[in-house]
Amino acid sequence: MDCKQTRKWLTAQVDGELGVTEMIAIEHHLAVCAECNRLFAEQVRISSAMKNMPLISLRQLLLRSASRRHYLSRNRQHIPQNAGP
Ligand SMILES: [Zn+2]
Repeated sequence: MDCKQTRKWLTAQVDGELGVTEMIAIEHHLAVCAECNRLFAEQVRISSAMKNMPLISLRQLLLRSASRRHYLSRNRQHIPQNAGP
């Protein structure tokens, strides 16, 4: 396995989504390639950080967005349209 293929599968490797054959091939490459090994460690760190982020549901996200739009539209009405010199 070369660097290009390894890097293509790094995220899947970190997430445990690869088959055994692909996992072994990547492990062999990581054992001999410092740059891919560094990228793998970085991917593990990012994945770990994302798993520790607070979860927000799509419903909560939509409600926050709708609430913000409602607030902005209400406050826009109080700003004079022709305000200025
Ligand atoms: Zn490599």
